Amino acid sequence: MGLDDDAREYHRSEPPGKIEISTTKPTNTQRDLSLAYSPGVAAPCRDIDADPERAFEYTAKGNMVGVVSNGSAVLGLGDIGAQASKPVMEGKGVLFKRFADIDVFDIELDEDDADAIVETVAAMEPTFGGINLEDIKAPECFEIEERLRERMDIPVFHDDQHGTAIISGAGLINAADIVDKDLVDLDIVFSGAGASAIASAKFYVELGADPNNITMCDSSGIITEERAAAGDVNEYKAEFATEGEGGDLADAMEGADVFVGLSVGGIVSQEMVRSMASDPIIFAMANPDPEITYDDAKEARDDTVIMGTGRSDYPNQVNNVLGFPFLFRGALDVRATDINEEMKRAAAEALAELARQDVPDAVVKAYGDQPLKFGPEYVIPKPLDPRVLFEVAPAVAEAAMESGVARTEVETGEYAEQLEA
Ligand code: NAP
Ligand code: MG
Repeated sequence: MGLDDDAREYHRSEPPGKIEISTTKPTNTQRDLSLAYSPGVAAPCRDIDADPERAFEYTAKGNMVGVVSNGSAVLGLGDIGAQASKPVMEGKGVLFKRFADIDVFDIELDEDDADAIVETVAAMEPTFGGINLEDIKAPECFEIEERLRERMDIPVFHDDQHGTAIISGAGLINAADIVDKDLVDLDIVFSGAGASAIASAKFYVELGADPNNITMCDSSGIITEERAAAGDVNEYKAEFATEGEGGDLADAMEGADVFVGLSVGGIVSQEMVRSMASDPIIFAMANPDPEITYDDAKEARDDTVIMGTGRSDYPNQVNNVLGFPFLFRGALDVRATDINEEMKRAAAEALAELARQDVPDAVVKAYGDQPLKFGPEYVIPKPLDPRVLFEVAPAVAEAAMESGVARTEVETGEYAEQLEA
């Protein structure tokens, strides 16, 4: 209860909420005001009219992300609607600002129809350098993002899908390396076939996993060709349907190298962990309670268990804040038209690489002197590690330039130094 009441007070204290707009240019004199608004403002307007890209030069567009939600799948709260989602979306804005100095307008849309959401967001393109879709439920979220990415000339990124995919993907690269297994050989079982699970499965394939080695379970068990043919699952789940005879999650986990939990807490037993292959990798990411607790998973067996969760009180926290601020930082700084697979992959690889480096003392101190050294208990960098910005944003910017979606170039070395300054 203490936390709930503290949170109410935190939000309610004057001024209500967590964000405000501030101005960035002088506004002291009459002349300042004639520059900021009429008549002076007409000159940049005319320039932008002649060349729309000059909006990046004259307006805040290039550092502004729209965090857009309809409140249909909010954190662990479910479909609480647009208005009730506003504290979460303001909070997302706080994280963008705190971690990457990006400004956010949070846009809560009282709308459930996918067509209407697409039309509304597409019409907001002039305002923003990028769109972060947030907490929109599956399967609509897939279609909305797909259509907006096609329509819009700025990045559109549904964080609940790809944030999780990128950060757990970074963890997977390192975990596989530690247990000396190749991604292509990993037998991977998903519990959950929603927004985050579908995106993660697709992304692991991008990273080198074999789609034929992926078994996906939803609340009715293994997703099979038979269920797909019977029209029992949506098209996104059907993509991961397996040929076998089906069964439940326990059946799927027998002999698996990797368990990826993006479903609900407490559904994996120690017995199920014992049935997995040697040195299993277990990312149990249901929030707030994982599919199996860190302690139960570790105690289930004597060989190496690499365990990650969504929780900050255990090792290997899969926290989306390791991704979206830096992906957008890199994308905005080259005026990217998209956040594409190459950029997501570059982010995951940069995170994986960072976890292999020595951790500065200040970061170790911030985490209560846990020994943060590359190994089973540390496969993913910590969210408060300042190096994440300097490593991930330049990697993303470079991938944008190389894959042809950058509107301007930066020199990556100089850019990284600039971020550090
Ligand atoms: P979602 O789109 O609602 O998907 C939830 C999935 O879980 C659905 O496919 C659902 O099955 C399945 N499910 C529900 N009960 C189940 C059961 N008893 N056994 C097996 N599967 C079951 O939600 P999401 O956004 O992907 O998030 C899923 C979970 O992952 C949440 O707990 C969320 O907090 C967590 N998450 C964590 C992180 C992180 O740690 N960084 C990031 C993203 C999500 P049906 O399709 O049959 O309904
Ligand atoms: Mg979210």
